[in-house]
Amino acid sequence: MKGLNMDIGILALQGAFAEHAAVLARFPGVTARTIRQRADFSDRLAGLIIPGGESTVMAKLLVELELMDPITSAVRAGLPVFGTCAGLILLAREVQGLSAARIGELEVRVKRNAYGRQVDSFTTSTDFASMGAVPMVFIRAPAILDATERVVPLSVLNGQPVAVRQDNILATAFHPELTDDLRVHNYFLQMAAGRPLSAEMEYHP
Ligand code: GLN
Repeated sequence: MKGLNMDIGILALQGAFAEHAAVLARFPGVTARTIRQRADFSDRLAGLIIPGGESTVMAKLLVELELMDPITSAVRAGLPVFGTCAGLILLAREVQGLSAARIGELEVRVKRNAYGRQVDSFTTSTDFASMGAVPMVFIRAPAILDATERVVPLSVLNGQPVAVRQDNILATAFHPELTDDLRVHNYFLQMAAGRPLSAEMEYHP
């Protein structure tokens, strides 16, 4: 992909970080940097991915490793960040019934494990950012119950947003890294590259 030379951090404390690294490896010029400790989180990163996993475990580790504050400050200062599933929970301003520390910069209220026990996981597809239908894997996914007007829905499923954008923050309730479709990651990489995004955005991994 021409012009996309950048380092993208992937929070690698727990959860589906390897799957995101495998997706980034498919974009020429993009280098994935796993973040396991404070020293790995540098200013050189053009963006940060917060994967799915268990948000309470990740939150605890973020605090213990003294990564919570620097990541929160960087996101507040405009670092492009992409949270999937548990990553969305960590970015959310409010999580129903949970007061654990989190980044909290995304102006949404979410409910964890919202899709019920009978349908722990399912795959569907719907439009993402006017780019057409993309496949979406949901695994004990959070629901976005409310959002402020700063939050733009990029995908809506059964009347609820499942992908949202607030300036430098992208978040999905689903796992695009568990599919073969690269468009959601491509969208994030264009954000990280500071490019204008449009429905006609080129897709050329
Ligand atoms: N239910 C998990 C949580 O609350 C999120 C699930 C996921 O990331 N696949 O952290």
